[in-house]
Amino acid sequence: MRATLLYAADDVRVEDVADPKIHNATDAVVRVVLSCICGSDLWPYKSLPPTDNPRHMGHEFLGVVEETGPEVRTLAPGDLVVAPFVYSDNTCAYCREGLQTSCLHGGQWGVNGVDGGQGQAARVPYADGTLVKLPVEEGSDLLPDLLSLSDILCTGYHAARTAGVAQGDSVTVVGDGAVGLAAVISARLLGAEQIILMGRHQARTDLGRDFGATDVVAERGEEGIARVRELTGGQGTRKVLECVGLKDAIVQSFGVVRDGGTISRVGAPQFAEVPFGFGDFMRNITLTGGVAPARAYIEELLPHILDGSIRPGRVFDRTLALEDIADGYRAMNDREALKVLIRP
Ligand SMILES: [Zn+2]
Repeated sequence: MRATLLYAADDVRVEDVADPKIHNATDAVVRVVLSCICGSDLWPYKSLPPTDNPRHMGHEFLGVVEETGPEVRTLAPGDLVVAPFVYSDNTCAYCREGLQTSCLHGGQWGVNGVDGGQGQAARVPYADGTLVKLPVEEGSDLLPDLLSLSDILCTGYHAARTAGVAQGDSVTVVGDGAVGLAAVISARLLGAEQIILMGRHQARTDLGRDFGATDVVAERGEEGIARVRELTGGQGTRKVLECVGLKDAIVQSFGVVRDGGTISRVGAPQFAEVPFGFGDFMRNITLTGGVAPARAYIEELLPHILDGSIRPGRVFDRTLALEDIADGYRAMNDREALKVLIRP
């Protein structure tokens, strides 16, 4: 089969790799129908040192089950399924707590002999635990929306949930990337009344308004903080969802959170230290968030997509064939595309 390999920064290739086969009794083989490029794929795309052992890329996909191992009980060939961005057994103590990202038997796509998601097919470990069956046909118009359950929608939702967004809340979303926009959708779903989206790409913040943002703040730094405070009677918002992962964004988050409020960060951090000193101590700020256990939220979010009340798939603004995926990486890295859909 064909799959996406990263050999070095700026060197993405589509090559022939071994066809996936059942290794363990709990595996399934899934033919990929749709996948996409993640903002987090851009970090290795920008920085990977040259290697002869290329990285298998992709961790967001949906597809059709082609084959199941003898111990797979809930899925059968022909089922349309979505995969979260890590696999998990969904039975261990962590999984039962809804923390499938810490699964005792789980792991990441694209390493240790497991396929990446940006290919024509994938072997899925712990298929019963990992995959969620989708009640639509392969030709459904909802597929891009459903693909967002792999990562971005669940990540945005994790930010809103861990921040404790509730009915009538005030929320700032820092970042107008796909996860930031998904966080706007999520804050709205949980009943937030005021949703301030901080971002400066107008096409993206316009989509954010469609998704439920009540205000947009394009300014950054001190100016951006002042603007959010102006919009909130000088106090800031009770909840802040940090969806970027850069230090400036977390500093901004501390600047716009109300005393006693909560910051949830779900942007994969590209920094090691968070400034959280005496001043913020005196303000009783809570810092939470982390990697999203997407698997924990899929069944809960699925009905909102099926009934058309949310359309997270609108973040996809370009579709490419798998063979052209290198152009998708370039376009996202150049901020020419927000999020690129891949059809194998
Ligand atoms: Zn587990």
